[in-house]
Amino acid sequence: MTTAETVAPTGSTAAGGVRTSLYIDGVWTDPGPSFEVIDPATGHAVARMADAGAAETRAALDAAVAAQDAWGRWAPRARADLFHRAHGLLRERAEQFSRVMTAESGKPLSESRAEFDLSASFFLWYAEQITHLHGGWAHGSHGGYRVVTTHQPVGPCLLITPWNFPLLMSARKAGAALAAGCTVVMKTAQETPLTGALFTQTLADAGFPAGVVNLLHTTSSATISETALADPRLRKISFTGSTGVGSLLLQKAAPHIVNASMELGGDGPFVVLDDADVDLAVEQAVICKFRNAGQACVAANRIILHEAIADEFTAKFVAAARELRVGNGFEDGVDVGPIISSRQRDRVVDLVERFRGIGAHVLTGGRPAAGDGYFYEPTVMTLDSRDHELCTEELFAPLAALYRVGDVQEALDFANDTSYGLAAYVFTRDLDRAVAVAERLEFGMVGINRGIMADPVASFGGIKASGLGREGGPDGIHEFLEPKYLAITVD
Ligand code: NAD
Repeated sequence: MTTAETVAPTGSTAAGGVRTSLYIDGVWTDPGPSFEVIDPATGHAVARMADAGAAETRAALDAAVAAQDAWGRWAPRARADLFHRAHGLLRERAEQFSRVMTAESGKPLSESRAEFDLSASFFLWYAEQITHLHGGWAHGSHGGYRVVTTHQPVGPCLLITPWNFPLLMSARKAGAALAAGCTVVMKTAQETPLTGALFTQTLADAGFPAGVVNLLHTTSSATISETALADPRLRKISFTGSTGVGSLLLQKAAPHIVNASMELGGDGPFVVLDDADVDLAVEQAVICKFRNAGQACVAANRIILHEAIADEFTAKFVAAARELRVGNGFEDGVDVGPIISSRQRDRVVDLVERFRGIGAHVLTGGRPAAGDGYFYEPTVMTLDSRDHELCTEELFAPLAALYRVGDVQEALDFANDTSYGLAAYVFTRDLDRAVAVAERLEFGMVGINRGIMADPVASFGGIKASGLGREGGPDGIHEFLEPKYLAITVD
């Protein structure tokens, strides 16, 4: 690989290419060190990116701080117009984004295109909200004054995104922050920096002013977060990733009481009751489990089946899993791409062995799939017992674990027996029952007869070890706004 400034990833027919430098204060800049981006479907490098350290982090934060006041004062209509321009440019580059995502994350092109559409719709939704961020007016409790409530941008933000949905995470975070009038320093995941680079390039081309959007790639994420969080001028961190790293970042945010939003891990229960439409449940479980090769925080982690439908569901689900085609995401007809890295693929191999060690029955899959990349076969296993701590570990793999229960209470007890609380699912034909179960599931989101959750109007997020705060919907923008009230004396 060369260290050329732009790159067209393998399989890409995109015009132009993607910048491989950092973007600080409106300038594409190269500090010197660089690192390779690997296509997990081939194991080969597709690009070499600039590698940021503490100096670049300080420079990016300086730029974000300098730009904050002016950006925060932009008239809502002007900011909305800029967002609409950026949304138009994003749409023009839909295919380029999709191909870049497949090249660096391995996901099938059809999934990259779906992720692009969702990401763009988030951006559009934020654009539409900018002119609707209203405050309030009230009479003081004891008369003599009025209370006017307004909102102001939190201030410069650090946005840290994972590799599994590189564009969705960037667009969802940056869209909300920028709509609220905050300036941002975005840090991409080491595995998928190209998507974040193309996103930043698009915002820059749309005309976001220098310093408002800054971009860092790095092999040393801890250096970036420690440098930024040690600086009291940083006012917000928004992080998506594992619970372990989220907890560490909260500790680092504590000294300066930095506002924090955390979208962390999940252990989603997928509950299928005795009166469910089994075909629908199987169809949705396949999506919820095997989309993105199972590497989704909202994936079905424990498929909990009422014994009345367990045999039928299991037979149909195994048959559907066997139909899935594993391969390079650029090939037509591929349903499941590779695992993100050789290290993660080795983790999956080890995980399945550990499950075998506690008595799991592997019904299909259970081994790496052929190919030069980091492929693993879609795997389905049943467990007789659910007592082991492995049963509530986040799998993050194309590995489905099926459990049986005798009644709704048993399903609920097992579903809630986890430290996580992100997404849960319930399948039943009885809406009363669905609502009753959903209300008792200790999760931030519940899918009723559906296995997909993200939507721009919805407040996406979890409770317990799954995080703090929400992304999307009005709540998503308010994560980046501080309420402020003015008490005005009026006789
Ligand atoms: P990870 O926590 O290792 O990495 C996520 C991001 O954090 C990456 O950009 C990484 O470079 C960065 N990072 C790692 N250590 C850091 C540090 N010390 N300081 C600053 N940044 C640091 O997670 P992962 O394994 O890459 O991603 C998978 C995890 O993310 C899973 O647990 C998954 O459930 C979670 N996730 C959650 C959501 C959600 O919305 N709740 C969405 C996607 C993924």
